[in-house]
Amino acid sequence: MTAFRYVIALGSNQRHHRHGAPGAVLRAALAVLAARDIRLISASPVIRSRPIGPSDREYANGAALVETRLDPPALLAALQDVEMQFGRKRQGRRWRARTLDLDIVLWSAGCWSDDALTIPHHEFRTRGFVVGPAARIAPQWRDPLSGHSLRQLEYRIKRRLDRPARAP
Ligand code: ATP
Ligand code: MG
Ligand code: MG
Repeated sequence: MTAFRYVIALGSNQRHHRHGAPGAVLRAALAVLAARDIRLISASPVIRSRPIGPSDREYANGAALVETRLDPPALLAALQDVEMQFGRKRQGRRWRARTLDLDIVLWSAGCWSDDALTIPHHEFRTRGFVVGPAARIAPQWRDPLSGHSLRQLEYRIKRRLDRPARAP
């Protein structure tokens, strides 16, 4: 049986009672993944951001390049298991505060689509907090749908952000 490679996005915006701040949560999560049948090839630096406004919530994001014999549904089950291990509660609502979010971004064998899982991740191309870290560890990896490499996707996001506002 062949081994697959995946790019995984990691995110946290809530402290963990034992591991502490979101950045430490991500590092602890990487160690837990590596202790399973998910071999860590490389991990991006953790990027931290604070939302503008009164909230003091800290966001941490990162990406990991991993190798495993697990197929996509089996890997998703393992990642959800780790999310639960870190105290994440599944309440069917996205975007809420969470200790740990682990998403599958890219898969070496291309695309996957079923009721529970879509690879490439449906929104990753426009998310700087996913593409930025992923481009640190696998800049040449091409998104099979757009044909753009992670480096190119990062450039496109930055260009969009940097573009001066147009006159009405
Ligand atoms: P988003 O997917 O927009 O980043 P989220 O990560 O907050 O939102 P979750 O609550 O973690 O969303 O997951 C909701 C569901 O998304 C999961 O139960 C899972 O079945 C599904 N899903 C579909 N594609 C993927 C993927 N590529 N990686 C992880 N989960 C996925
Ligand atoms: Mg997510
Ligand atoms: Mg998720």
